Amino acid sequence: MKILISNDDGFQAPGLVALHQALVDLPDVQVEVVAPEHNNSAKSNALTLSAPLYVREAHNGFRYVTGTPADCVHIALKGLLDYRPDLVLSGINNGANMGDDTIYSGTVGAAMEAYLFGIPAIAFSQTEKGWAHVDDAAQVARKLVQQVMHERWLEQEVFLLNVNIPNLPFGELKSMKVCRLGRRHAAEKVITQDSPRGETMYWIAGAGGAKDSGEGTDFHATAGGHVSVTPLQIDLTDHARLGRWRETVDRIEVPRS
Ligand code: MN
Repeated sequence: MKILISNDDGFQAPGLVALHQALVDLPDVQVEVVAPEHNNSAKSNALTLSAPLYVREAHNGFRYVTGTPADCVHIALKGLLDYRPDLVLSGINNGANMGDDTIYSGTVGAAMEAYLFGIPAIAFSQTEKGWAHVDDAAQVARKLVQQVMHERWLEQEVFLLNVNIPNLPFGELKSMKVCRLGRRHAAEKVITQDSPRGETMYWIAGAGGAKDSGEGTDFHATAGGHVSVTPLQIDLTDHARLGRWRETVDRIEVPRS
């Protein structure tokens, strides 16, 4: 059983260290880290196509890449590792990846890269920034990985899970709940400042608050102290509108051959 771990906060992030620590002593499990050199939060599935990438090894054996989270997993799977991992984990992220966050998240992006290559993957995030109770979150991750192994999911299915863990001591966490993604309000207004050289600087502001945080969503579950577990898929097709769009494009006159 071989597990590859990556993240988007960088190879020195406490969430990655805690996740590795929680899994490294599992029997018959080999754990390896390939993670970004620097913080790459909100890089989604970005790949670096216009520059070379370098892979270096830290004193603790973690390997780090001068690229994005998806670069890390891509390079690991398509050239760096001489084996195919059975499972790819990403995180534990510094802050929530719920609802619309999953579109932007580098944590989810790293996991999704593995999923695209046909390898089961799980993205883990703590709901609050700051790493409070990160070792407790890692214990949650360990339990989920153990259950997945115990039920032989890895032999049967390729899946992509998104997990958000409230920053609580292990004993105060409530049960894991399988959830759908909620929705956020649109992001806050961009912040502008004058640079010392007289130009306007634009800073992307915070994500919007929860808009759909009703029963059954990840927002609802984590607000109540539960761990949210959301199975993701990546077909972006708007299936419900296929028919209406067919009617519209059929009314456009184009040369027919
Ligand atoms: Mn991050």
